[in-house]
Amino acid sequence: MFAVTEQKPVVYYNYVGGEWTESSSKERLESYNPATGELVGCAQNSTVADVEQAIDAVYQAFQHSDWGCNPKRRYEALLGLAHKIEENLERLAVLLTCEQGKTIRESRLELAGCVDTLKYFAGAARAVFGRSIQLEPGNFGVIAKEPIGVVGIISPWNWPALLMIRELAPALAAGNAVLVKPASLTPAISVEIVKLIDEIPQFAKGIVSMVTGPGRSIGAAMGGSRKIDMISFTGDTSTGKTIMELATSNIKKLALELGGKSPNVVFEDARLDKAIPLIGRSIFISAGQICMAGSRLLVHEAVKDEVVSRLQDYAERLRVGNGLHESTDMGPVISQTQLDLIAEYCEIGRREGRIITGGYRLEGGDYDKGYFFAPTIIDDLPPSCRVVREEIFGPVLAVQTFSSEEEALALANDTDFGLSAGVWTSDVNRALRMSKGIKAGTVWINTYNKNFPEAEFGGYKQSGLGRTRGIDGLMEYCETKHIHFEIE
Ligand code: NAD
Repeated sequence: MFAVTEQKPVVYYNYVGGEWTESSSKERLESYNPATGELVGCAQNSTVADVEQAIDAVYQAFQHSDWGCNPKRRYEALLGLAHKIEENLERLAVLLTCEQGKTIRESRLELAGCVDTLKYFAGAARAVFGRSIQLEPGNFGVIAKEPIGVVGIISPWNWPALLMIRELAPALAAGNAVLVKPASLTPAISVEIVKLIDEIPQFAKGIVSMVTGPGRSIGAAMGGSRKIDMISFTGDTSTGKTIMELATSNIKKLALELGGKSPNVVFEDARLDKAIPLIGRSIFISAGQICMAGSRLLVHEAVKDEVVSRLQDYAERLRVGNGLHESTDMGPVISQTQLDLIAEYCEIGRREGRIITGGYRLEGGDYDKGYFFAPTIIDDLPPSCRVVREEIFGPVLAVQTFSSEEEALALANDTDFGLSAGVWTSDVNRALRMSKGIKAGTVWINTYNKNFPEAEFGGYKQSGLGRTRGIDGLMEYCETKHIHFEIE
């Protein structure tokens, strides 16, 4: 029995210039519940013409409102949105679970993250400081921080609410106008949040617009538009590379939050009682569909057997099912395509390594209605194996063994990605050496998946460009201007 009720499908419109509009295509983009196959919502299947119209509306709002020079208004608007999400949290959490598949507990966590992020950047809107500097006698400069202008935000489906808000909040706090394109698989939750924006009078009309539709056409049109001053993209590394090429049209500013293949490095002196559940959670949360998933386990040979056996036990105890059940630990993956991809990687793992647990689609009963995959651990993989090197975006943990700190560090850095890492040890000096040596934007010591709006997040190497969250995350959305004064 469900603890919460399913949703009725709803038609969602684009939000352009403060009005709800239909796409000129008159076509719909349907999103389905990945646990049950039921229709959740129908959004607009927008065209390039719709996008161009929306960009113009956002530009007009930026030009003709006081948004860019009224920090207090921005503070009130962002705080207002935080409160609206808080008031609607349970309703939105149910929709998020129905559309994306994650567990209801994960959905609540994601929406609470939205609230926290909005509150932080509401305050930050009133603290966009520049500085002044004496340059020579009679000459001083004011180094001012200004909004960039029109920002396009392109978001992924895996944490669709938080990853949209994570960029929307600082972009708006800095005084920009924003056009959002959510992922095609999760338009409903994104439009529901924009509906709350529509209820808040402090948002200047048109300062936030949203169009839904396919990335390859309308996302690409945003990437290539000369009227958009900056693109903030969160998604796959290969799509990020395409966006970089498109951005050359007008040398757009770019913020890219891309893929990962993050290691958990477990030394022989790690406190395993704490480490095991957090390492398990790091790979199986959101069925592994999370950029910072701890998808590689690097473990010292002295504790290897114990760690793997305890993680196997953790994986086999997870209750996989419809995320609406309060007791479910892991929901389905997002789509048939994703399910097939994960199964393909497991086949490679079976050939080149040894499956410890899982490695198959879950079948029978309610499992047949959705895209459920067993939590999977694969051992004895060579470092060249694709399961070790590529982002799978599914509940698959690749295990590698080391015998020295040098080897652990080399394995941790033997990747094209550099998003995050976990280090598990009781030796503080070793923890410091590893945290300095690992080339990743976040290194957690004796913990994992700890994120805060005030702490920067982002990637080294092919995991991205720039930083999100924190003061650096706010500054990504600012231009810097030197205004020079000569005193006569
Ligand atoms: P994706 O790249 O397929 O899609 C992301 C967004 O880009 C979607 O809105 C999509 O419609 C759009 N898009 C697709 N093709 C496009 C194109 N040619 N031009 C412009 N836009 C286009 O990614 P996804 O499958 O939605 O998300 C999963 C990926 O996102 C994983 O690689 C994951 O690691 C990454 N991710 C990174 C972070 C981070 O913070 N670093 C967070 C979450 C997800």
